[in-house]
Amino acid sequence: MSGKKTIFFDRDGTLIIDMNYLNDPEKIFYLEGVFEALGRLRDAGFQFVMVTNQAGIAKGLVSPANLEEIHRRMIAEFGRHGIQFAGIYFAPQPSDSDHPMRKPNPGMLLAGARDHGADLARSWMIGDRMSDIEAGRRAGCRTILLDGTDVPSQSAFPPPTFVARDVLHMAEFILANDRE
Ligand SMILES: [Mg+2]
Repeated sequence: MSGKKTIFFDRDGTLIIDMNYLNDPEKIFYLEGVFEALGRLRDAGFQFVMVTNQAGIAKGLVSPANLEEIHRRMIAEFGRHGIQFAGIYFAPQPSDSDHPMRKPNPGMLLAGARDHGADLARSWMIGDRMSDIEAGRRAGCRTILLDGTDVPSQSAFPPPTFVARDVLHMAEFILANDRE
């Protein structure tokens, strides 16, 4: 077991503001503190993988070309801050789909772990919804919910490892609980 410690990030509401079926590459707004938070985690030796449900594709509200452009711009902006993503995965299935790649199923995380050599027991899933947390749990990761969207006590899924106030609080918790 010498896989890489990996942080899987949800996209909307976790790295950028959730615009509800974002389809316009001009409307990417980064969460406050996100570059600083990911920079600290990068310096601690984590690799990053983004895993995003994009049911807007199935609904016809998000075009595949725009989704690609949004991710190209995000890669460029994170890159300007010295932050790389080992992989980006999206699940285009509709909201009512139980497809293995759509969160809360862990398919995107398992694909990311396989493609990029993750050690899931040393890895984390970060998101703003309990479906993110459940996907991380099913993949065998520890999990952090960003406070403000979903409330764990109101979810059918088991609670996250931790609830963070914001992305910097998330990074502090991971750095304090990293398993070497
Ligand atoms: Mg989200």
